[in-house]
Amino acid sequence: MEIKVGTLAGFCYGVKRAITEATEIAGNNEKIYCIGEIVHNPQVVKRLKEKGIIFVEEIEEVPDNSNVIFRAHGMPKETYIEAKKRNIKVFDLTCPNVEKLHKKVLEMKNDYFIILLGKVGHAENISTISFAGENSFILESQDDIIDCYKKYEKTSLGKVYILAQTTYNFKKFDKVIEELKENFCEAEIVVDNTICNATELRQNEVEKLSKEFPKMIIIGGKNSSNTAKLVEISKKFCKNVYSIETKEELDEKEFNSNDRVGIMAGASTPYESIKEVVEFLEKIGG
Ligand code: SF4
Repeated sequence: MEIKVGTLAGFCYGVKRAITEATEIAGNNEKIYCIGEIVHNPQVVKRLKEKGIIFVEEIEEVPDNSNVIFRAHGMPKETYIEAKKRNIKVFDLTCPNVEKLHKKVLEMKNDYFIILLGKVGHAENISTISFAGENSFILESQDDIIDCYKKYEKTSLGKVYILAQTTYNFKKFDKVIEELKENFCEAEIVVDNTICNATELRQNEVEKLSKEFPKMIIIGGKNSSNTAKLVEISKKFCKNVYSIETKEELDEKEFNSNDRVGIMAGASTPYESIKEVVEFLEKIGG
């Protein structure tokens, strides 16, 4: 069996940084809370729970005067305000690339209508859009352009600033921008491709592997948006794509010693999960 693991499979810089620092913070503090999943991977969250981090859903569940970790995807502006008000010490592990989006939005919000390309309800977008104020819109698909325009029309701004979720599909980006320009033809438009370099490179590599290998395994959390995009890209070029969180989801009967298998993993997938899949395949491949 031929097995090839993508060179960019697994933790990106922002995730690695968040997990390393959270582990350290957990070791130095008696009680530490984290709002939401620190990164979108259940195995990673489980391990951090074992180290003593208490995961909650809202800042309201964090007691006054305690310690809290802010996840790699960032938190809404209101959560920072609430933490300060209640004297909660914040360990802010927001990825510096996501922080850049927050700064950009704050810089542009007074003069521009802000359009954020990305998934509605995703933690990173909830965070970014909270800094944009009322005159903003998260555009999940081209079908939302009319609603977006209607909202823009109600403002008298005449200027539009477009940016994207850091894990947005970079191949889709140009197409959506083109359509937006056609629909907002009278507006002055500033476009900022804020897709993270790590995302773009990983998406390129999964495309290359999917063209080369008849079977592809994509490892990552089911709730991870960057993993979902890798699966989407892979399915375009490969007929047999297995989207899994752990090796337990693979069936031995679907592989044989003559197989050629490519492996890619999302930005929040730990090294151990990749290793387990490789070992599983090596056992079948002899
Ligand atoms: S994908 Fe990029 S922006 Fe997102 S956490 Fe990783 S390094 Fe940061």
